[in-house]
Amino acid sequence: MTTVETVRGPIAVEDLGTTLTHEHLFTKNPELEQDYPHPEWDEERLIRTAIDGLNALSAKGIGTVVDLTVPGLGRYIPRIQQVAAETEINIVVATGFYSFKDLPMFYKINGPGLMVDRSEPLEEFFIKDLTTGIADTGVKAAMIKIATDEYGITPDVDRIMRAAAVAHQETGATITTHTHAEDFTGRDQQKFFESLGVPMEHLVIGHCGDSTDLSYLRELMDNGSTLGLDRFGMEQVLPDEQRIDMLVKLCEMGYADRLTLSHDAGFFSINTPPSWRAKNAPNWHHANISDRILPAIREKGVSEETIQQIMVTNAARIMVGRRA
Ligand SMILES: [Zn+2]
Repeated sequence: MTTVETVRGPIAVEDLGTTLTHEHLFTKNPELEQDYPHPEWDEERLIRTAIDGLNALSAKGIGTVVDLTVPGLGRYIPRIQQVAAETEINIVVATGFYSFKDLPMFYKINGPGLMVDRSEPLEEFFIKDLTTGIADTGVKAAMIKIATDEYGITPDVDRIMRAAAVAHQETGATITTHTHAEDFTGRDQQKFFESLGVPMEHLVIGHCGDSTDLSYLRELMDNGSTLGLDRFGMEQVLPDEQRIDMLVKLCEMGYADRLTLSHDAGFFSINTPPSWRAKNAPNWHHANISDRILPAIREKGVSEETIQQIMVTNAARIMVGRRA
């Protein structure tokens, strides 16, 4: 039986169901918030909000949510376990590191050839998260997340990506990414990982739904990778109407087996707090795909079979990774 690790432990891949492949529950900055608490953060209330929100999603037919909140975004598994204990939905978590440019000071000083000369801590941490679990929670990560943005592959991002490649080779877990679509950074990610021997089919290039450049998107998929059209509702970046048009076009062109859908939404983010989102991006929430996007693409002729392929089959494939 092929299994996938969730916050409640391993489950059969067939039990994942309809899956949102790139989401967040709580994006935080513990060090900042320790000294400067955010007025909108209320631990008890937001845990309740997340439980209610995920239960509402479950009622709409969502089976699994992948929380790509990794170090750099305030990952804290005990809080996710509290949520997972009170919802039917499976929550899958990830390892990796989220930075556009630099690593924190610890990594500048600790590592091969550095002042505290030791083996690469990023490799050690990623592999531990995937194989024995995160901290002492026993919860294992199922995917590896990295980011490149407008600064490209800086020396520290290079280091993160190398560690991600090692963790992939060691465990088979899929690497899933943040990109800056405007700068076509998915292209650099493919080149980089290919040079390290990571098969392109074990790469999910994220935030591709921000792009309206058909040739860029086709190039990434023709090279073998799966795309994340994973920011539905982030209309401050690109209106959903355009995201929907591209999705329908890619389905018509026969690319349905290379697509995953999600929102990159969250119940709280220190970076864009709930009040900001309510005002500036009212459709940016975890139910947008169920409520607005799927009905819209059905109306434009996308079949149930295609939706199943994208939301269930492709999502399961990326969570299984190289073990498939
Ligand atoms: Zn994200």
